[in-house]
Amino acid sequence: SSSSSAVIIIGAGISGISAAKVLADNGIVDLLILEASGRIGGRILKESFGGVSVELGAGWIAGVGGKASNPVWEIASKFGLRTCFSDYSNARYNIYDRSGKIFPSAIAADSYKKAVDSAIQKLRDLESNSVDDVGNGAELHLTAKTPIELAIDFILHDFEMAEVEPISTYVDFGEREFLVADERGYEYLLYKMAEDFLLTSEGKILDNRLKLNKVVRELQHSRNGVTVKTEDGCVYEANYVILSASIGVLQSDLICFRPPLPRWKTDAIGKCDVMVYTKIFLKFPYKFWPCGTDKEFFIYAHERRGYYTFWQQMENAYPGSNILVVTLTNGESKRVEAQSDEETLKEAMGVLRDMFGPDIPTATDILVPRWWNNRFQRGSYSNYPIICNNRVVNDIKAPVGRIFFTGEHTSERFNGYVHGGYLAGIDTSKALLEEIRKDERENESKSFLL
Ligand code: FAD
Repeated sequence: SSSSSAVIIIGAGISGISAAKVLADNGIVDLLILEASGRIGGRILKESFGGVSVELGAGWIAGVGGKASNPVWEIASKFGLRTCFSDYSNARYNIYDRSGKIFPSAIAADSYKKAVDSAIQKLRDLESNSVDDVGNGAELHLTAKTPIELAIDFILHDFEMAEVEPISTYVDFGEREFLVADERGYEYLLYKMAEDFLLTSEGKILDNRLKLNKVVRELQHSRNGVTVKTEDGCVYEANYVILSASIGVLQSDLICFRPPLPRWKTDAIGKCDVMVYTKIFLKFPYKFWPCGTDKEFFIYAHERRGYYTFWQQMENAYPGSNILVVTLTNGESKRVEAQSDEETLKEAMGVLRDMFGPDIPTATDILVPRWWNNRFQRGSYSNYPIICNNRVVNDIKAPVGRIFFTGEHTSERFNGYVHGGYLAGIDTSKALLEEIRKDERENESKSFLL
């Protein structure tokens, strides 16, 4: 089969949907959205677990309460999404050692301050060395040795970098974070956005301009247009393409470009790191952990960095659900993705029994998302090197002929976040609209000359 459209948007995550909406709002209705999976939402994904709705991907609206208003927070407020304030700052005072003792707050605060100071110092050293690009955040690691140092090093670098260097999200939009705790899921916002320009009925999208289960494998592009081929053998023609696949997918060989992408493009794509972030959910028959808003998060200090370090209880979000969440990243995420969930459950229970004693009940259910092994994702979000010039992100974002790039990884200020994806989609479509208008003007003057 073959069909032709003005614009094909590849991917129906937040950036693809926001890009499509801007086009539709500006009169480009001849569009087609091709999505590899069977749903819209991408890395915004809920699942029923233990009687409630849990978020396997994005969980927080980050950056609220500041001078400027976070657009995702505005949309969430408009549609009445249920959220809960999360106070990360207490986590450092709930650090358990392997015998279940909580480190005295003075020791924790002191270790924390040392870690922040040493990271700031290292950052300054790196900056004064004036290297163009260096590796990832790992370069900033202090010489952490003891379990508490390792645990703090982990939270600092994998969660709270804001204390070391300013992060635009918190500078611009404020330092508060709200956990989405809504049965309809974070993805409800995407459906509400889609409703504005796609045909829907009773919460379902019926518009045939959205095609699900369409895995794009080839983009053949020339000065005249783009031919898009999908895994099921379909061929689609378009004047322009907006590609919103993640940085991990761009680094993989899922999509073949003909002709191949230029060297400056592939070089830039290769320079952006992929962060793997895994939230493991555990359901218990009853609660055995301390509760209260100052105890939403707790830390496990182990001699292996990142070994089931960061814990959250869902009691504030979903009282009575008896669900705990433990977050793993990068190497630990990949390790756990490769093993059986039973193995992971055993490890997590070992850690919990260290903290809360041998008599606690075993979890009755476990959920382990696999973002790294998902070929439509290949990781959780982009992570630009700490010292990295704007050139890299601008090259990743820059169009190649008629192929325009979008997605959270193309957002210079907010990469890695939902609002980054949302704003990137708007940005990319605005740039494309300008290009289309330029094209139209040129064609008009050509026909005038004829
Ligand atoms: P995506 O949502 O990935 O959309 C791209 C779409 O393209 C996907 O639907 C994919 O299936 C599709 N696709 C890929 N390849 C193809 C192909 N070849 N053909 C067709 N379709 C294709 N952000 C926050 O703000 N707060 C958080 O708390 C937060 N936590 C996170 C936790 C996790 C575990 C993860 C994974 C992410 C988290 N994020 C968080 C980041 C946030 O989810 C993303 O930045 C954002 O959702 C990305 O949107 P996107 O449109 O750029 O990409």
